[in-house]
Amino acid sequence: MILSGRALADEIQEEIKHQIASYSSSPGLAVVLMGDHAPSLAYVSMKTKACQAVGIQTFLHRLPPSTSEVYLIQLIQELNNDPSVDGILVQLPLPSHINPEKIVATIDPNKDVDGFHPINLGKLLLGINSGFVPCTPLGVKVLLERSHISTEGKDLVIVGRSSIVGKPLAALLMQNAPACNATVTVVHSRSKDLIQHTARADILVAALGSPRFIKEEMVKEGAVVIDVGINREEDPQSPKGFRLVGDVDFDAVAPKCQAITPVPKGVGPMTVAMLLHNTLLSYQRKHA
Ligand code: NDP
Repeated sequence: MILSGRALADEIQEEIKHQIASYSSSPGLAVVLMGDHAPSLAYVSMKTKACQAVGIQTFLHRLPPSTSEVYLIQLIQELNNDPSVDGILVQLPLPSHINPEKIVATIDPNKDVDGFHPINLGKLLLGINSGFVPCTPLGVKVLLERSHISTEGKDLVIVGRSSIVGKPLAALLMQNAPACNATVTVVHSRSKDLIQHTARADILVAALGSPRFIKEEMVKEGAVVIDVGINREEDPQSPKGFRLVGDVDFDAVAPKCQAITPVPKGVGPMTVAMLLHNTLLSYQRKHA
């Protein structure tokens, strides 16, 4: 079975749109984009389009790559105090003269719809529900849940331990909570005998950023495979000059899976849908 994140994200966006239509005002998302990093431009364009489609107002702040850290911090503080802004998203990566941890920590945790603020990551670890869960891990959880794939007691192996995907996903799916309760293993570039872990996974999540890294022999027969990876591969035949491929060797791995996500149209659209979800949640909390 191919798990279409695209179809599910469309369904969720439709639900969000209906909810927003019943309110007398619109949620607002401020997006800060620094520089001309091509994938970041593409992500921001996708996210703002999705917001507009469901009735979330967007306030785009495009800053030149030379913008100082002091200016960026000031802008975030203004957005923190702006009542029309329910969510603040600072598109990563930031130029090297900017300290991303300092920037993320400046965002009001109640508007941190990316869920990267230390307070929100701490709440996630503690199982406190009043924070925001980072969009990609939440997207993976919702994708599994809505596809009726139980994680309860399952051996779930995550390849990658980044702070935006691997670590928060592990914290989320190991919670003693509905649609969680997985037995989570996280492997990374220093893990020995990677295949010994991946090949016993009931659910395997690839989030390492290496095109087609997960091969057929690394996957158990009947496993569920979630491919978080988004890698650009040169493709002169494509109008854009590149195509997107995941971290999983899809054609070889898919035949032995119970279910697998494609790239594109898998986890990516779910990440965007969860950004809309978190922005609406912030708005609802403010008006509760
Ligand atoms: P990072 O580069 O921050 O982290 C990659 C992780 O993978 C690290 O923990 C690294 O280990 C580990 N790793 C790298 N190579 C290997 C290897 N050969 N064997 C085992 N582990 C390895 O990446 P991100 O987490 O930010 O992103 C991962 C992928 O997911 C990328 O392709 C990215 O584009 C994509 N992504 C997709 C999203 C979506 O919406 N679908 C959202 C966010 C990211 P170590 O820590 O030891 O270096």
